[in-house]
Amino acid sequence: MGSESSMEPLGPGSRGPAVADVRAALRSLGLLGPDADGAEDHYDQPTELAVRHFQQVRGLSVDGRVGTETYRALSEARWSLGDRLLHHDPERPIRGDDVTNLQERLLELGYDAGRADGIFGRETEVGLLAFQRDYGLTADGTCGPGTLRALRQLGRKVTGGRPQLLRQSASFVDSGPHLIGRRIVVDPGHGGPDPGFTVGETTEADLVLDLASRIEGRLAAAGATVYLTRGRDQNPTLEERTTFANDARADLFISLHMDAQSSQHARGVASYYYGTGSGTSSTVGERFADLARREMVARTGMLDLGGHPKTWDLLRMTRMPSVRLDCGYLSHPVDRQLLLDAKLRGTVASAVLAAVQRLFLPADADPPTGTFVLPQKV
Ligand SMILES: [Zn+2]
Repeated sequence: MGSESSMEPLGPGSRGPAVADVRAALRSLGLLGPDADGAEDHYDQPTELAVRHFQQVRGLSVDGRVGTETYRALSEARWSLGDRLLHHDPERPIRGDDVTNLQERLLELGYDAGRADGIFGRETEVGLLAFQRDYGLTADGTCGPGTLRALRQLGRKVTGGRPQLLRQSASFVDSGPHLIGRRIVVDPGHGGPDPGFTVGETTEADLVLDLASRIEGRLAAAGATVYLTRGRDQNPTLEERTTFANDARADLFISLHMDAQSSQHARGVASYYYGTGSGTSSTVGERFADLARREMVARTGMLDLGGHPKTWDLLRMTRMPSVRLDCGYLSHPVDRQLLLDAKLRGTVASAVLAAVQRLFLPADADPPTGTFVLPQKV
Protein backbone atom coordinates (compact mmCIF):
# COMPACT_ATOMS: atom_id res chain seq x y z
CA MET A 1 0.00 0.00 0.00
CA GLY A 2 1.25 3.44 -0.83
CA SER A 3 1.22 6.80 0.90
CA GLU A 4 -0.91 7.26 3.95
CA SER A 5 -1.31 11.01 3.63
CA SER A 6 -4.90 12.21 3.67
CA MET A 7 -7.05 10.59 1.05
CA GLU A 8 -10.51 10.58 -0.42
CA PRO A 9 -12.40 7.87 1.43
CA LEU A 10 -13.02 4.74 -0.57
CA GLY A 11 -16.44 3.16 -0.34
CA PRO A 12 -19.06 1.13 -2.16
CA GLY A 13 -18.84 1.86 -5.88
CA SER A 14 -15.21 3.09 -5.80
CA ARG A 15 -12.85 1.59 -8.38
CA GLY A 16 -9.17 1.82 -9.11
CA PRO A 17 -5.70 0.85 -7.94
CA ALA A 18 -6.30 2.09 -4.37
CA VAL A 19 -9.27 -0.29 -4.11
CA ALA A 20 -7.07 -3.12 -5.41
CA ASP A 21 -4.57 -2.29 -2.63
CA VAL A 22 -7.28 -2.38 0.00
CA ARG A 23 -8.61 -5.69 -1.28
CA ALA A 24 -5.13 -7.20 -1.31
CA ALA A 25 -4.62 -6.12 2.31
CA LEU A 26 -7.97 -7.58 3.36
CA ARG A 27 -7.14 -10.82 1.56
CA SER A 28 -3.77 -11.12 3.27
CA LEU A 29 -5.59 -10.77 6.60
CA GLY A 30 -7.91 -13.60 5.63
CA LEU A 31 -10.94 -11.31 5.59
CA LEU A 32 -11.66 -11.54 1.90
CA GLY A 33 -11.73 -14.54 -0.44
CA PRO A 34 -9.93 -14.73 -3.77
CA ASP A 35 -10.83 -12.11 -6.38
CA ALA A 36 -13.55 -12.97 -8.87
CA ASP A 37 -12.65 -12.11 -12.47
CA GLY A 38 -12.78 -8.39 -13.09
CA ALA A 39 -13.54 -7.60 -9.41
CA GLU A 40 -9.99 -6.92 -8.23
CA ASP A 41 -10.28 -3.11 -8.25
CA HIS A 42 -13.98 -2.93 -7.44
CA TYR A 43 -15.24 -1.87 -3.99
CA ASP A 44 -18.04 -4.43 -3.97
CA GLN A 45 -20.26 -5.66 -1.18
CA PRO A 46 -17.84 -8.38 0.09
CA THR A 47 -15.19 -5.65 0.31
CA GLU A 48 -17.47 -3.45 2.35
CA LEU A 49 -18.34 -6.31 4.70
CA ALA A 50 -14.68 -7.17 5.14
CA VAL A 51 -13.86 -3.53 5.91
CA ARG A 52 -16.64 -3.38 8.49
CA HIS A 53 -15.37 -6.53 10.10
CA PHE A 54 -11.83 -5.17 10.17
CA GLN A 55 -12.98 -1.85 11.66
CA GLN A 56 -14.93 -3.64 14.32
CA VAL A 57 -12.10 -5.87 15.53
CA ARG A 58 -9.61 -2.98 15.46
CA GLY A 59 -11.83 -0.65 17.44
CA LEU A 60 -12.25 1.85 14.61
CA SER A 61 -15.51 3.59 13.76
CA VAL A 62 -17.42 1.11 11.69
CA ASP A 63 -18.66 2.73 8.48
CA GLY A 64 -17.53 0.26 5.82
CA ARG A 65 -15.45 2.94 4.14
CA VAL A 66 -11.69 3.31 3.93
CA GLY A 67 -10.53 6.75 5.02
CA THR A 68 -7.11 7.79 6.30
CA GLU A 69 -7.49 6.04 9.64
CA THR A 70 -8.70 2.70 8.30
CA TYR A 71 -6.16 2.83 5.50
CA ARG A 72 -3.35 3.27 7.99
CA ALA A 73 -4.66 0.50 10.20
CA LEU A 74 -4.80 -1.82 7.19
CA SER A 75 -1.21 -0.99 6.29
CA GLU A 76 -0.06 -1.66 9.84
CA ALA A 77 -1.93 -4.93 10.16
CA ARG A 78 0.04 -6.45 7.30
CA TRP A 79 3.23 -6.68 9.32
CA SER A 80 4.01 -9.59 11.54
CA LEU A 81 7.06 -9.86 13.73
CA GLY A 82 10.07 -10.93 11.67
CA ASP A 83 8.89 -9.41 8.35
CA ARG A 84 11.30 -6.49 8.65
CA LEU A 85 13.93 -4.94 10.90
CA LEU A 86 12.44 -2.75 13.61
CA HIS A 87 14.23 0.24 15.06
CA HIS A 88 13.59 3.77 16.22
CA ASP A 89 13.34 6.29 13.40
CA PRO A 90 12.52 9.68 14.95
CA GLU A 91 11.65 11.15 11.52
CA ARG A 92 9.23 8.46 10.44
CA PRO A 93 8.43 6.13 13.34
CA ILE A 94 7.83 2.55 12.22
CA ARG A 95 4.26 1.47 12.82
CA GLY A 96 2.66 -1.91 12.58
CA ASP A 97 1.33 -5.00 14.26
CA ASP A 98 4.87 -6.33 14.41
CA VAL A 99 5.77 -3.35 16.60
CA THR A 100 2.76 -4.01 18.84
CA ASN A 101 3.83 -7.62 19.13
CA LEU A 102 7.38 -6.65 20.07
CA GLN A 103 6.12 -4.16 22.65
CA GLU A 104 3.84 -6.77 24.19
CA ARG A 105 6.65 -9.32 24.41
CA LEU A 106 8.98 -6.80 26.08
CA LEU A 107 6.29 -5.76 28.55
CA GLU A 108 5.56 -9.40 29.35
CA LEU A 109 9.25 -9.90 30.06
CA GLY A 110 9.24 -7.00 32.46
CA TYR A 111 10.81 -4.30 30.26
CA ASP A 112 9.30 -0.86 30.06
CA ALA A 113 8.72 -0.48 26.34
CA GLY A 114 6.04 2.15 26.62
CA ARG A 115 2.43 1.57 25.71
CA ALA A 116 1.83 -1.29 23.23
CA ASP A 117 0.57 1.15 20.61
CA GLY A 118 2.26 -0.25 17.51
CA ILE A 119 4.54 2.77 17.12
CA PHE A 120 8.27 2.22 17.58
CA GLY A 121 9.16 5.25 19.67
CA ARG A 122 11.96 6.17 22.04
CA GLU A 123 10.50 4.17 24.94
CA THR A 124 10.33 1.04 22.84
CA GLU A 125 13.96 1.54 21.91
CA VAL A 126 14.98 1.92 25.55
CA GLY A 127 13.08 -1.25 26.51
CA LEU A 128 14.61 -3.19 23.63
CA LEU A 129 18.13 -2.01 24.49
CA ALA A 130 17.70 -3.14 28.08
CA PHE A 131 16.49 -6.54 26.91
CA GLN A 132 19.41 -6.90 24.49
CA ARG A 133 21.94 -5.99 27.18
CA ASP A 134 20.47 -8.43 29.70
CA TYR A 135 20.54 -11.28 27.22
CA GLY A 136 24.04 -10.66 25.92
CA LEU A 137 22.84 -9.63 22.47
CA THR A 138 24.28 -6.79 20.42
CA ALA A 139 22.64 -3.78 22.05
CA ASP A 140 21.83 -1.80 18.92
CA GLY A 141 18.16 -1.08 19.53
CA THR A 142 17.26 -2.93 16.34
CA CYS A 143 14.97 -5.93 16.45
CA GLY A 144 16.55 -8.30 13.92
CA PRO A 145 16.99 -12.07 13.65
CA GLY A 146 19.20 -12.47 16.75
CA THR A 147 16.80 -10.57 19.00
CA LEU A 148 13.84 -12.43 17.53
CA ARG A 149 15.48 -15.76 18.23
CA ALA A 150 16.05 -14.78 21.85
CA LEU A 151 12.44 -13.63 22.18
CA ARG A 152 11.17 -16.90 20.71
CA GLN A 153 13.35 -19.02 22.96
CA LEU A 154 11.73 -17.30 25.87
CA GLY A 155 8.35 -18.13 24.40
CA ARG A 156 7.06 -20.82 26.67
CA LYS A 157 9.36 -20.13 29.53
CA VAL A 158 8.02 -16.86 30.70
CA THR A 159 4.41 -17.49 31.43
CA GLY A 160 2.44 -15.79 34.12
CA GLY A 161 1.86 -17.77 37.26
CA ARG A 162 1.32 -21.48 37.44
CA PRO A 163 0.32 -23.38 34.32
CA GLN A 164 -3.42 -23.38 33.75
CA LEU A 165 -3.38 -27.09 33.04
CA LEU A 166 -2.87 -27.66 36.73
CA ARG A 167 -6.53 -27.16 37.37
CA GLN A 168 -7.43 -30.67 38.31
CA SER A 169 -9.35 -32.20 41.12
CA ALA A 170 -8.46 -30.98 44.58
CA SER A 171 -8.80 -34.54 45.83
CA PHE A 172 -5.50 -35.42 44.20
CA VAL A 173 -4.22 -37.49 47.07
CA ASP A 174 -6.83 -40.18 46.54
CA SER A 175 -6.80 -40.06 42.80
CA GLY A 176 -3.80 -42.29 42.08
CA PRO A 177 -0.93 -41.21 39.89
CA HIS A 178 -1.16 -37.46 39.45
CA LEU A 179 1.56 -36.76 36.98
CA ILE A 180 0.11 -38.64 34.03
CA GLY A 181 0.92 -36.78 30.85
CA ARG A 182 3.75 -34.75 32.42
CA ARG A 183 7.09 -35.05 30.70
CA ILE A 184 10.04 -34.37 32.90
CA VAL A 185 13.69 -34.41 31.95
CA VAL A 186 16.18 -35.05 34.75
CA ASP A 187 19.73 -34.03 33.95
CA PRO A 188 22.50 -35.51 36.09
CA GLY A 189 25.51 -33.21 35.67
CA HIS A 190 28.89 -34.35 34.32
CA GLY A 191 29.34 -38.06 33.43
CA GLY A 192 31.70 -40.26 31.46
CA PRO A 193 35.18 -38.76 31.44
CA ASP A 194 34.01 -35.75 33.50
CA PRO A 195 33.59 -36.84 37.13
CA GLY A 196 32.77 -33.42 38.56
CA PHE A 197 33.94 -33.17 42.15
CA THR A 198 35.37 -36.29 43.72
CA VAL A 199 35.33 -37.63 47.26
CA GLY A 200 37.71 -40.56 47.55
CA GLU A 201 36.32 -43.23 45.23
CA THR A 202 33.01 -41.49 44.76
CA THR A 203 32.34 -38.82 42.17
CA GLU A 204 29.74 -36.12 41.87
CA ALA A 205 28.84 -37.65 38.47
CA ASP A 206 27.96 -40.99 40.06
CA LEU A 207 26.10 -39.45 42.99
CA VAL A 208 23.90 -37.23 40.84
CA LEU A 209 23.21 -40.14 38.47
CA ASP A 210 22.11 -42.25 41.42
CA LEU A 211 19.96 -39.39 42.64
CA ALA A 212 18.49 -38.88 39.16
CA SER A 213 17.55 -42.57 38.96
CA ARG A 214 15.80 -42.35 42.31
CA ILE A 215 13.90 -39.25 41.19
CA GLU A 216 13.04 -41.00 37.93
CA GLY A 217 11.58 -43.99 39.77
CA ARG A 218 9.43 -41.84 42.03
CA LEU A 219 8.17 -39.59 39.25
CA ALA A 220 7.40 -42.55 37.00
CA ALA A 221 5.43 -44.20 39.80
CA ALA A 222 3.39 -41.01 40.04
CA GLY A 223 2.55 -41.31 36.35
CA ALA A 224 5.05 -38.93 34.77
CA THR A 225 7.10 -39.73 31.70
CA VAL A 226 10.70 -39.23 32.71
CA TYR A 227 13.86 -39.01 30.67
CA LEU A 228 17.45 -38.83 31.87
CA THR A 229 19.88 -36.86 29.73
CA ARG A 230 22.69 -39.36 30.12
CA GLY A 231 23.78 -42.80 31.22
CA ARG A 232 26.80 -43.62 33.34
CA ASP A 233 29.41 -43.41 30.61
CA GLN A 234 28.10 -40.42 28.72
CA ASN A 235 28.88 -36.76 29.08
CA PRO A 236 26.60 -34.88 26.70
CA THR A 237 27.46 -31.28 25.95
CA LEU A 238 25.33 -28.55 27.38
CA GLU A 239 23.73 -28.06 24.00
CA GLU A 240 22.96 -31.77 23.68
CA ARG A 241 21.30 -31.74 27.06
CA THR A 242 19.11 -28.74 26.33
CA THR A 243 18.27 -29.95 22.81
CA PHE A 244 17.32 -33.31 24.27
CA ALA A 245 14.89 -31.64 26.66
CA ASN A 246 13.45 -29.44 23.91
CA ASP A 247 13.01 -32.41 21.58
CA ALA A 248 11.34 -34.38 24.37
CA ARG A 249 8.90 -31.47 24.70
CA ALA A 250 9.41 -31.63 28.42
CA ASP A 251 7.22 -29.70 30.85
CA LEU A 252 10.04 -29.38 33.34
CA PHE A 253 13.82 -29.72 33.28
CA ILE A 254 15.73 -30.54 36.45
CA SER A 255 19.52 -30.44 36.43
CA LEU A 256 21.37 -31.97 39.37
CA HIS A 257 24.77 -31.05 40.78
CA MET A 258 26.70 -31.08 44.00
CA ASP A 259 29.19 -28.47 45.06
CA ALA A 260 32.63 -28.43 46.60
CA GLN A 261 34.88 -25.62 47.77
CA SER A 262 38.33 -25.28 49.22
CA SER A 263 36.75 -23.73 52.28
CA GLN A 264 35.38 -26.52 54.44
CA HIS A 265 32.73 -24.22 55.80
CA ALA A 266 30.66 -23.95 52.66
CA ARG A 267 27.57 -26.13 52.92
CA GLY A 268 23.92 -26.25 51.99
CA VAL A 269 21.44 -26.49 49.17
CA ALA A 270 20.96 -23.88 46.45
CA SER A 271 18.62 -23.68 43.49
CA TYR A 272 18.86 -21.71 40.28
CA TYR A 273 16.20 -20.71 37.80
CA TYR A 274 16.13 -18.67 34.64
CA GLY A 275 16.14 -14.93 35.32
CA THR A 276 18.17 -11.77 35.03
CA GLY A 277 17.59 -10.44 38.51
CA SER A 278 15.99 -7.30 37.06
CA GLY A 279 12.40 -8.33 36.83
CA THR A 280 12.71 -10.87 34.04
CA SER A 281 12.28 -14.42 35.19
CA SER A 282 10.62 -17.70 34.60
CA THR A 283 7.89 -17.61 37.20
CA VAL A 284 7.25 -21.33 37.02
CA GLY A 285 10.97 -22.05 37.18
CA GLU A 286 11.34 -19.76 40.17
CA ARG A 287 8.48 -21.43 41.95
CA PHE A 288 9.83 -24.91 41.33
CA ALA A 289 13.35 -23.88 42.36
CA ASP A 290 11.87 -22.59 45.59
CA LEU A 291 9.70 -25.64 46.26
CA ALA A 292 12.44 -28.16 45.55
CA ARG A 293 15.00 -26.42 47.73
CA ARG A 294 12.62 -25.91 50.62
CA GLU A 295 11.45 -29.53 50.47
CA MET A 296 15.07 -30.67 50.55
CA VAL A 297 15.99 -28.43 53.43
CA ALA A 298 12.91 -29.43 55.40
CA ARG A 299 13.60 -33.15 54.95
CA THR A 300 17.38 -33.25 55.31
CA GLY A 301 18.21 -30.41 57.66
CA MET A 302 20.79 -29.06 55.23
CA LEU A 303 21.42 -25.33 55.14
CA ASP A 304 19.19 -23.25 52.86
CA LEU A 305 21.34 -21.18 50.51
CA GLY A 306 18.37 -19.73 48.67
CA GLY A 307 17.17 -19.58 45.09
CA HIS A 308 18.95 -17.47 42.52
CA PRO A 309 18.11 -16.17 39.06
CA LYS A 310 20.75 -16.98 36.44
CA THR A 311 21.00 -16.57 32.68
CA TRP A 312 23.14 -19.67 32.25
CA ASP A 313 22.73 -21.36 28.87
CA LEU A 314 21.46 -24.48 30.59
CA LEU A 315 18.49 -22.46 31.88
CA ARG A 316 18.24 -20.17 28.89
CA MET A 317 18.35 -22.67 26.03
CA THR A 318 15.63 -24.91 27.42
CA ARG A 319 12.18 -23.89 26.32
CA MET A 320 10.42 -25.26 29.39
CA PRO A 321 10.80 -24.09 33.00
CA SER A 322 14.20 -25.35 34.05
CA VAL A 323 15.96 -25.47 37.36
CA ARG A 324 19.38 -26.47 38.56
CA LEU A 325 19.61 -27.94 42.04
CA ASP A 326 22.92 -27.94 43.86
CA CYS A 327 22.23 -30.56 46.49
CA GLY A 328 24.93 -29.90 49.07
CA TYR A 329 28.70 -29.61 49.39
CA LEU A 330 30.89 -32.67 49.01
CA SER A 331 33.66 -30.63 50.64
CA HIS A 332 31.70 -30.16 53.86
CA PRO A 333 31.95 -33.06 56.36
CA VAL A 334 28.27 -33.12 57.31
CA ASP A 335 26.86 -32.54 53.81
CA ARG A 336 29.25 -35.18 52.47
CA GLN A 337 28.22 -37.75 55.01
CA LEU A 338 24.58 -37.16 54.13
CA LEU A 339 25.13 -37.29 50.37
CA LEU A 340 27.13 -40.51 50.56
CA ASP A 341 24.22 -42.12 52.39
CA ALA A 342 21.91 -43.90 49.93
CA LYS A 343 18.94 -43.51 52.26
CA LEU A 344 19.46 -39.76 52.42
CA ARG A 345 19.64 -39.61 48.62
CA GLY A 346 16.28 -41.36 48.63
CA THR A 347 15.01 -38.60 50.90
CA VAL A 348 16.32 -35.94 48.53
CA ALA A 349 14.57 -37.74 45.65
CA SER A 350 11.33 -37.73 47.62
CA ALA A 351 11.78 -34.01 48.23
CA VAL A 352 12.08 -33.42 44.49
CA LEU A 353 9.01 -35.56 43.83
CA ALA A 354 7.02 -33.60 46.41
CA ALA A 355 8.11 -30.35 44.78
CA VAL A 356 7.02 -31.58 41.34
CA GLN A 357 3.68 -32.68 42.79
CA ARG A 358 3.20 -29.31 44.41
CA LEU A 359 4.15 -27.46 41.24
CA PHE A 360 1.43 -29.25 39.33
CA LEU A 361 -1.20 -29.11 42.05
CA PRO A 362 -3.96 -26.58 42.49
CA ALA A 363 -2.96 -23.98 45.07
CA ASP A 364 -5.78 -24.83 47.48
CA ALA A 365 -4.58 -28.43 47.68
CA ASP A 366 -0.96 -27.51 48.31
CA PRO A 367 0.26 -29.22 51.49
CA PRO A 368 2.82 -27.56 53.78
CA THR A 369 6.50 -28.06 53.00
CA GLY A 370 8.01 -31.33 54.17
CA THR A 371 4.67 -33.09 54.65
CA PHE A 372 3.58 -34.30 51.27
CA VAL A 373 3.98 -38.06 50.88
CA LEU A 374 3.05 -39.92 47.75
CA PRO A 375 0.26 -42.42 48.61
CA GLN A 376 1.97 -45.42 47.04
CA LYS A 377 5.52 -45.77 48.32
CA VAL A 378 8.29 -46.33 45.83
ZN1 LIG B 1 28.63 -30.22 39.04
